Amino acid sequence: MFFKRKKPQCSECGKKIEPNEEIFLKLRYPFYEGTVRICKYIETQTTIYCMKCSSI
Ligand SMILES: [Zn+2]
Repeated sequence: MFFKRKKPQCSECGKKIEPNEEIFLKLRYPFYEGTVRICKYIETQTTIYCMKCSSI
């Protein structure tokens, strides 16, 4: 699973993201080449929105 260390939550409304829930991620393309540890990247470099907030 992506988020083992901390509970992710929606950046807009603060809703906790449940396991297996569909979410939207806003992220920058990794600036370094090669294999990126995407799980770590997602944890640190993305903004998470729940389905509800993503439609605004
Ligand atoms: Zn939300």
